[in-house]
Amino acid sequence: MIKISIVEEPKFFKSDKVKGFKKILISHFSKEQFKRNQTKFPVNDIQLQLKDVITELIRKTGNKCAYCESELKNSFIAIDHFRPYYAAADLKGKISTDHYWWLAYHWNNLYPACEICSLNKKNFFPVLKSRSTVNYSSKSTLFHKEAPMLIDPGFEDPEEYFEYDINGEIYSQTERGNVTINLLGLNRSELIKQRKSLVLDLDSLFSVINEIGELNSSGVSTETKENDLFEMLLEYFNSNKFPYLGMRRFLIRKYMQNLSGNHPLSKRRRSTYFMKMFKIKAIKKDSYIDDSNGVKQFEIRTIDIKNYKSINNFSIDFKRTKSKKAGWAILIGENGVGKSSVLSATLKTLVDRNYRNFSFHKDEIKRDQDEKAFVNISFNNSIEARVSIGDKKNIPTIKINL
Ligand SMILES: [Zn+2]
Repeated sequence: MIKISIVEEPKFFKSDKVKGFKKILISHFSKEQFKRNQTKFPVNDIQLQLKDVITELIRKTGNKCAYCESELKNSFIAIDHFRPYYAAADLKGKISTDHYWWLAYHWNNLYPACEICSLNKKNFFPVLKSRSTVNYSSKSTLFHKEAPMLIDPGFEDPEEYFEYDINGEIYSQTERGNVTINLLGLNRSELIKQRKSLVLDLDSLFSVINEIGELNSSGVSTETKENDLFEMLLEYFNSNKFPYLGMRRFLIRKYMQNLSGNHPLSKRRRSTYFMKMFKIKAIKKDSYIDDSNGVKQFEIRTIDIKNYKSINNFSIDFKRTKSKKAGWAILIGENGVGKSSVLSATLKTLVDRNYRNFSFHKDEIKRDQDEKAFVNISFNNSIEARVSIGDKKNIPTIKINL
């Protein structure tokens, strides 16, 4: 699963026809429950199955299922309501008939899906908190109010939740990731088979790169070939033309990380492509100050901390004042609220990337939260340091993006 693109709402959703559908829904839900039960629910997917709507819908994913990333065959494209428009069910099958009728014709709530994902998902939509009251449609508001268990590819970055192994299996270190995998059946045999064949393709590419490296170390000039191969790898990394981009990116990143420091391929070339794949921006010369020891100094712009020690959520934005001089930021709070934790999380995130793995401990992850724990620090030059802390079988697993 990967983040899906934003596509402008088709005109159909602003048409009088849709306004009429919405009016019918509002009048249905303004009736008392027992009267509603006697009337047929007034939404039908067929109303949305217009060619124009489907054409725009599949643009969101490049003609792939929003959940499993399989190519959508023209014969069947399910218009999936991420939040079901009727009878939303939790994991035990408990149903809420009032959720989420007001999102029935909401463009941001619609994703293209394959037949199997759509059949698996049904009307399930488990939430950790309580279901939203009527009429909230902002994804961000709904996310914070409900704490949904399903990962929303139109709102979050699913690549932060999922990992893949060389057998083509998908797994996650978060509860939400696991619920999503199980509910949609993302480890069904057909998917594993197809992903595995892609793993084999990637493996052959990795082997060729390794062989070129060996040739290089024996004195043969391989520069042109190296360029071609890394370009090919980058194409695999970026192209949404083929299915299962989430897995491809995960495995390529892992491969790039494992290319050891003394690998015979040009270090400069490796780091150039590494930067392209990890979205690391080159540091602009005017965005830092060199101190007398030649150390580059950046300004911290924002700090966000979640589920670390006693902190649930902490955000601070050090915006410059109009005077262009940095102001003072003072943390005030009772003993134990987490003032020192803010400083220690910041310090631990800012140590050299090679040491960050060792700087966090499992006991520092908030135990009563199933949600992710992370520290995110952004600087004035658009660089970000991020540490996300997972917890699998009491072992802290730390993913670093910088
Ligand atoms: Zn699917």
